[in-house]
Parts: sequence; structure tokens; C-alpha cells
Amino acid sequence: MSEQKHDWTKEEILEIYNKPLMELLYEAATVHRKFHDPNTVQVSTLLSIKTGGCPEDCGYCPQAARYHTDIEGNDLMQVSHVKAQALRAKASGSSRVCMGAAWRNVKDGPEFDQVLEMVRTINKLDMEVCCTLGMLTENQAKRLAEAGLYAYNHNLDTSEDYYKDVISTRAFEDRLETIDNVRKSNVTVCSGGIIGMGEAIEDRAGMLVALATLNPQPESVPINALVAVEGTPMEDMEPVSIWEMVRMVATTRIVMPETQVRLSAGRTQMSREGQAMCFFAGANSIFAGDKLLTTPNPDVNEDMEMFKLLGLNPQKPFTKVSQPQSVEAEDSQHQPLGEKPKWSRPGHTITRNEEAKAKTKLV
Ligand code: SF4
Repeated sequence: MSEQKHDWTKEEILEIYNKPLMELLYEAATVHRKFHDPNTVQVSTLLSIKTGGCPEDCGYCPQAARYHTDIEGNDLMQVSHVKAQALRAKASGSSRVCMGAAWRNVKDGPEFDQVLEMVRTINKLDMEVCCTLGMLTENQAKRLAEAGLYAYNHNLDTSEDYYKDVISTRAFEDRLETIDNVRKSNVTVCSGGIIGMGEAIEDRAGMLVALATLNPQPESVPINALVAVEGTPMEDMEPVSIWEMVRMVATTRIVMPETQVRLSAGRTQMSREGQAMCFFAGANSIFAGDKLLTTPNPDVNEDMEMFKLLGLNPQKPFTKVSQPQSVEAEDSQHQPLGEKPKWSRPGHTITRNEEAKAKTKLV
């Protein structure tokens, strides 16, 4: 049975965030062990399928057409190219491919049809497929679900109060509406935010209130540290300290115990010790690959070395990790490093409804 609490207040979350660090870490690690296997980390590969030229004005984003950054824009990638990249990602241990397009919203037509074909293609590779394409209607969410989409990413970015200081071309409610549309399909929700954009601690807590009071809570919550890119309005922001990152991860873990907490942008600025502390505090997913859409990310081999060092195992696709596992079950979930994955997708043998129901607990 789910143990999600949906009436979190900002005060309660601030109290957790501001605990003495050792107490916070102990509490978060305890929650983590209750709901997840602490030695399994899900690895996603983020692929920019359409880069740059975005009409939005997100203050942190080098892909916004209005900012003068050195991002080279690209048209929508060919399906064959996406397939080749997905196969590479799978061979290096990723269980999920997340495709990002720099769009304000999805428009029905040939480009969306091409994205649907990409989703079908990756799905056939027995990998989880995620998309982040901007705002989405209910009908578009259902079409993506039919194509086999596993998760849709749509970050809240920050608190409702601070949102207008970061983005003016859309509102916080627009984000919630898209998340609601995704929820009406059987696609899982991935939604998180960014710290280090000049927000107050209260805004971090406010963002977590918005996420944790969703019912059900998102299956996946990415926590990004701002990567300040020259040419964006946030180019001069100070880097986030590891202590802030650890506090944010630990607080997210406590208020959303069943969720997969993703260490996302900003990992290049973190030491291995810092990342290890985040895993201890409840992070159980990373993005792999040398780029996160357009910003730098650690090399895949470096990540695999770190996994070996810490005794972590990449999670197989389509496995349930929201409950602690027996040793036998754990072993069957792990994809041995450097070995070809041998899993089969449970969804092939269960009914679509059962799979949809199961998906609410996956990721
Ligand atoms: S974050 Fe997304 S919506 Fe905002 S400017 Fe960048 S690509 Fe566009």
C-alpha cells in the first residue's frame, strides 16, 4: 500500500530541510532503504532530438532563441539516428532514453508523428522511453502512451512564487495542466526542478510542496543544480554547494518516499564523494552521457567506474524498485556492468491494464 502523504506544508518541509545534516542524512537514508534497494541506481540517457531555437524565455536555458549562446540549433533528428544512439546507450548500461525537444508545446503534424515513431522504435529495443517536449494536450499524451511512452518529463523548475522571476512566457499553472494531462494517460510523470537560480530556501520548499501534494506523487523527480551558461540571464549565478544539493536530495527523498530521485544537471561540478553522499541521501537515478541536452555531463566510463567504486548496480528497465527487494530479487534487477543486458520486458506477458497499473509504482 502506498505510504504517500499528500498534505505537506512549506513549514514542515523547511523543518526537514534545515535539520542538522547528520540527522537529515540518517532520516533520508532510512526512508530510502524502506522503499528502495540502496545499491541500485537507474541510468537514463538524455538525447536532444531537436536543439535550440526555442521561443520560450526560461532564464537558465541556452536553447532559448532570444539568448546569445553558442548552442548550435538542429532540426528534428531522424528516427534511424535516434535508434543508433539508443542502442549505444543500452550497450553502456542505460535502461531509459529520454528525448528532449526545444519546443514550447507539441504541435500535431509530421514532427509529432516522427516523435511517435521514435518512441515505438526505442520501445522495441526493450528500453524505457521518456520524452520532454514542452506542453502537451490530453490527446497528445494518450497518443504517446499508445506508442509506448513510459514517462513524460515536465519540470516545475521552482516554486510558484519564484516562477515568474525565471520564466515569463508561460505560467506555473500551465506546467500543472500538462502534468495533469499526462496523468490522464498511463504514462508515468517525471517532474522536478533546478536549484541555484537565485531562489530562497523557501522556494525550494515551495517547489517540493507543489510536487509532493500531487496525488499520486511523480514517479520521478529530477533535482538539477544550475549550470550557468554564458549568454543566459543566469550566467553569473554562483554554483550551488554540495551541501545544498545533499539537503535538497534528502528532503525530496523524505517527502516523496516512493519516488525515484534523479541527480540531473550539475553533476560535473560534484566530486565522487559528493555524489556518494547524494546516493546515501536517497538519489537513485542519474543521467548518463557526455551531454545533458546542451550542458556538460560526466563521461559514461567515469560513471561506471564510480558505480564499481561504490558497489552500485544499474537498474534494469521495467523493474519495480519502490519496495525493498530480497537478495534474489535484487540480483535479477541488476544489469551487470559491462555485460549485455538479458532482461525481457514484463509488459510482454501481462495485460495492458495490469501494466498501466504497475507503471504507477515503477521508475
Ligand atoms: S527550458 Fe525548454 S521551454 Fe525553456 S527555453 Fe529551454 S528548451 Fe525552451
